[in-house]
Amino acid sequence: MSHKSAEMYELKKKVEELKKIRGLGTELVSLYIPAGYDINKVMQQLREEYGTAQNIKSKTTRKNVLGALERAMQHLKLYKQTPETGLALFVGNVSEQEGVSDIRVFAIIPPEPLNIRLYRCDQTFVTEPLEEMLRVKDAYGLITVEKNEATIGLLRGKKIEVIEELTSNVPGKTRAGGQSARRYERIREQETHEFMKRIGEHATKVFLPLLEKGELKGIIIGGPGPTKEEFVEDDYLHHELRKKIIGVVDISYHGEYGLRELVEKASDILKEHEAVKERKLVQEFFRHLVKDTGLITYGEKEVRKALELGAVDVLLISEGYDRVRVRAKCNHCGWEELRTMTENEYEIYKKNLKTCPKCGSQNISFEKWDVAEELIKMAEESGADVEVISLDTEEGQQFYRAFGGLGAILRYKIQ
Ligand code: ZN
Repeated sequence: MSHKSAEMYELKKKVEELKKIRGLGTELVSLYIPAGYDINKVMQQLREEYGTAQNIKSKTTRKNVLGALERAMQHLKLYKQTPETGLALFVGNVSEQEGVSDIRVFAIIPPEPLNIRLYRCDQTFVTEPLEEMLRVKDAYGLITVEKNEATIGLLRGKKIEVIEELTSNVPGKTRAGGQSARRYERIREQETHEFMKRIGEHATKVFLPLLEKGELKGIIIGGPGPTKEEFVEDDYLHHELRKKIIGVVDISYHGEYGLRELVEKASDILKEHEAVKERKLVQEFFRHLVKDTGLITYGEKEVRKALELGAVDVLLISEGYDRVRVRAKCNHCGWEELRTMTENEYEIYKKNLKTCPKCGSQNISFEKWDVAEELIKMAEESGADVEVISLDTEEGQQFYRAFGGLGAILRYKIQ
């Protein structure tokens, strides 16, 4: 994960929350304002929508839509201009009881620039553009190579982007014989070499910055003939990028079609690559455990302590990890308790803690936050890497079952 992992993780949580909300009617307003877009124009549009919404037949739906639009406009007034990366606003009645209205505003300033403008009033919130943002963080470099043509592209999530198409003027095979045939052959070889060099330089310009940002996960190279192998074997690619090659594939097309074909043919390689990386990390974790090197720790309390000491090298969190941190506080005497528990346990805890154990006051307040989010933030502040371990691999499952899905590989022993 890159340095933005905490923001991305938060975004993921918010999106999950939004996805759970269902309107009783088509009454949930989603509004996407792209980076750099004039917020006054959006206000204008909302005023128009407000006018249109007066005609909604169902009384309850009308009331909720008008209420949502009012709140949306109120909220927009908080901004002098659209935030730097844009704004996603979700407003609507979240009450599941008929006749009871509880209109909430969820405003998200995304970690990366929004490039979509959208207004929709529906039974659910529109979250796809944000979900797309969660997916597109990691990239795979794509190169198709032929004697005369090359295409450089990127795979982000499911999106394939053509970055550059290069062509060369390598002359075709000549029919002339003798001296001139050999001369042509030399020229051809020289031209091919120059072209390969050029592809390598362009690929470096595109991929190296991504590698440095930690976004480039791998490179896949394809082409119809042996040219692609020459390209790989003869060091035309920057040595750091060469280490990132995860597959060389036979394809028949070039250009955009070639990139599509490449991704399709490499789908197993891609899937395997994601799984392998995760598996390796978990295996490393297990290896430390078996050898008792003292360089790992697990469990929420222990990991938290290691993070506080700045001793964590890699923080491993299972995507199944779902604990919350709860602070109960007596507003009368100041008694306070901090605990980690599941959402269900929190409901019970809240019900059972009616009076302060110290002074008996009933004036108790609760504060609750996501443990994973908190730990990821701590990890980033101390410069540790964060890896979210999926439940898709056996190792990932094992990590979740055996260690509750939370562990850390340490920089040094702490006990
Ligand atoms: Zn008290």
